[in-house]
Amino acid sequence: MTHNNKEKTINETSFPNVRIIFARCNDLHHGFGIRVEEKELSNWCCDWTFPLTKQHARREKYHETIIQGNIFVDTQYPGCPHCGSKSIYKCGNCGKIACWNSEDLTVVCPWCNRKANMGDQTIVSLEVGQNY
Ligand SMILES: [Zn+2]
Ligand SMILES: [Zn+2]
Repeated sequence: MTHNNKEKTINETSFPNVRIIFARCNDLHHGFGIRVEEKELSNWCCDWTFPLTKQHARREKYHETIIQGNIFVDTQYPGCPHCGSKSIYKCGNCGKIACWNSEDLTVVCPWCNRKANMGDQTIVSLEVGQNY
């Protein structure tokens, strides 16, 4: 009767919903982390970046981060820590995230080496988290 060890006391609504996305620099192919915060329901804001190795990402399980919803880049977004690019994109082939300089209309994904077309420019929705 008193077995109640599944009880959770964390009030999730008062907790800032922050995740780290593991991304890769399109220019130099180094890894970096993007901090995203859910500002409103299903609206994720990228507001910080930092260099991140694959080993570190795996240790922290950042490569398993799953985000669903709209994603946008904050005006405070510092850009890619390696090359300074101010935007990001999601590869249509492998589904992973890389930095983008907002100018090149065709880029080569640093994860899978496939050409990606930047016709749409910005990420409107995102679901990441597999096969990093
Ligand atoms: Zn970069
Ligand atoms: Zn790719």
